[in-house]
Amino acid sequence: MEYENQYQHIPKTKYDCLLFDVDDTLYPLNSGLSDHVTKNIIEYMITKLGIAEDKVPEMCVRLYKEYGTTMAGLRAIGYDFDYDDCHSFVHGRLPYEILKPDPVLKSLLQSLPIRKVIFSNANEEHVARVLGRLGLMDCFEGVICFETLNPINKTKTPDNYEDGADLKGSKQSTDFIEKFCETNQLLQKSPVVCKPFEDAFEQAFKIAKINPQRTLFFDDSIRNIQTGKDMGLHTIWVGSSHRTKSVDYALESIHNMREALPELREAFETMEEVHYSEMVAIETPVRA
Ligand SMILES: [Mg+2]
Repeated sequence: MEYENQYQHIPKTKYDCLLFDVDDTLYPLNSGLSDHVTKNIIEYMITKLGIAEDKVPEMCVRLYKEYGTTMAGLRAIGYDFDYDDCHSFVHGRLPYEILKPDPVLKSLLQSLPIRKVIFSNANEEHVARVLGRLGLMDCFEGVICFETLNPINKTKTPDNYEDGADLKGSKQSTDFIEKFCETNQLLQKSPVVCKPFEDAFEQAFKIAKINPQRTLFFDDSIRNIQTGKDMGLHTIWVGSSHRTKSVDYALESIHNMREALPELREAFETMEEVHYSEMVAIETPVRA
């Protein structure tokens, strides 16, 4: 409410919400944080789940590609593990110090008179740590993350999986991995709700009360952008200058958002006018 009140006197723009991914969107891919995430996922699969080292690289790529996240894929193919344990292994050991405060982005976000919401597949703690390192904690009205999209069923196996037992290291598990590696078909639906699947977007819209037609969606993943576009969002592909069918705007860097988007430029200008008129309003009684 406070957020709405803050901007209630500002004329309406084409958009009333900005929806942001976090990783490789609010900070650049070349920060190297994502490489550490990949390294930790591989280590988790080998040491915690006992998956053969030679199978892991291919599995990682395919699970990510077909299920949205590697974790969602691992659950889909029958691995039962604690989400928090996986998150703390993969994210809890990241060198967050490589991310530096970004006062330029902070200033850009704070000067935009539009509500801003985070929409990430990552867990809450990771999102908070990244936003904290970037100095952007106060810039967002809300956060949609792993826990928001998966509030229960923490250890529930897929409904359509025949054997609900813990398959870690079992023969069935090995067979399932073999089958997964040999086939090109999606074998099971994952119980994990995540981008780029429509149910994740539907939930995010509902939870954050988002009208996709009036929302700009920033993400570095073209798959997420494609679903976002199909769901009615206006899309901005961050980290690329290449526009495709689903991409309304392509930005090399999130820092370019003001220059690249006419509608946002308009919003910035509106905000500057408001600031100017507020200054005048304050100064008038002094002069009088
Ligand atoms: Mg991302």
